[in-house]
Amino acid sequence: MNIDIAIIGAGPAGLMAAIHAGKLGARVLLIERAEYYGGQLIKQTHKFFGSKSEYAGERGIDIAALLVKQALGIPNVTAWNNATVLGYYQEDGILTVKHQDTFVTINAKKIIVASGAAEKTLAFPGNDLPGVYGAGAVQTLMNVYGVMPGKRLLMVGAGNIGLIVAYQLLQAGVEVAGIIEAAPKIGGYLVHAAKIRRAGIPIYTNHTIKAAYGSPALTGATICQLDTNWQQIPGTDLDIQADGLCLAVGLTPLTELLWQAGCKMAYVPELGGYVPFRNSSLLTTHPDIYVAGDVAGVEEASAAMVEGKLAGLAAAASLGQTAAALSEDYAEAKNQLAALRAGNVSAKIRSGLAKVTINDHSEALSEVICNA
Ligand SMILES: Cc1cc2nc3c(=O)[nH]c(=O)nc-3n(C[C@H](O)[C@H](O)[C@H](O)COP(=O)(O)OP(=O)(O)OC[C@H]3O[C@@H](n4cnc5c(N)ncnc54)[C@H](O)[C@@H]3O)c2cc1C
Repeated sequence: MNIDIAIIGAGPAGLMAAIHAGKLGARVLLIERAEYYGGQLIKQTHKFFGSKSEYAGERGIDIAALLVKQALGIPNVTAWNNATVLGYYQEDGILTVKHQDTFVTINAKKIIVASGAAEKTLAFPGNDLPGVYGAGAVQTLMNVYGVMPGKRLLMVGAGNIGLIVAYQLLQAGVEVAGIIEAAPKIGGYLVHAAKIRRAGIPIYTNHTIKAAYGSPALTGATICQLDTNWQQIPGTDLDIQADGLCLAVGLTPLTELLWQAGCKMAYVPELGGYVPFRNSSLLTTHPDIYVAGDVAGVEEASAAMVEGKLAGLAAAASLGQTAAALSEDYAEAKNQLAALRAGNVSAKIRSGLAKVTINDHSEALSEVICNA
């Protein structure tokens, strides 16, 4: 199959890329391994923060519906669900895809990788017991399939994801035994932490999980206190009964396809792990491969959407697709991203991006966009 642009992943980044490349007239194939389009947004029943231009105040699930409707309404955008991109072959630039029950090869002039991120985990005895979940799995069970993950659950991690998922568990009728956090202070927004505290749930900072136990499934966990050097303090063990343990300890970019394509990568802790070098149009060191969203650095849906727009516009423009509003849209996306990353909370992201943002092979593209 020959197309202009293949977009891998239909989360907020991939959907926005499809909308903007599609509107410029490029023949787009949006490829999503899940049954549903929307990526992480489909599980997010809470209202988003941020600015109005990135749908702040709307629930993630409603933002997904809106973007899916826009993308699928563009005649030159084709979308496949239940379609996993398995490989990229450097010799001929072919993508192999398992679409439902068939294997297909795709020849795309440009590729936008918007595959998102995977959850990190922790090593401790008993972490393979039934009842030990990642936060994404808990959200999927509860909010996508309507299945309760347990009756009483212990949350590990007090970042935004841990706090939000703990609150959603309460809303679903699950008892939350507590939240433990290895750092000396809560990492997530205080507004989320305040809701948890008001519900009477203890948040144990400077604590870690020592072991989970139960047979054949989880029945409890032992936690303990950490000193200022992150070492376990003897004699501080606390036993917590629970039939569910949820790990919300961060995400790491899903970059396998970028490695296969030979993109230059770097380990950047501020962005969640290995990420590709990219220029300001999100073109990687591979001349035909762009990135957008969490795969380029774990951030937020708001930034993922704007990056998707930027990558979609840039990829379509590089194929000669232009429109009267192209340079305006492109400049607007760049300004939106700069504004999103301007505050103190984004200092870490800015420092991470400074390590992997490059200037090569962007001049030709800027020329196309400026002359549009
Ligand atoms: C609990 C929680 C709360 C959050 N709250 C907020 C919030 O309030 N505000 C905010 O801005 N952000 C929030 N976020 C973050 C936000 O959800 C993510 O930053 C955003 O979804 C990233 O978008 P993305 O498109 O890069 O990736 P994703 O949404 O992860 O989408 C990637 C898609 O790619 C698909 N994919 C991956 N590999 C392949 C492959 N090989 N072939 C085909 N398809 C593939 C995946 O199935 C997935 O659908 C939250 C996240 C979580 C977990």
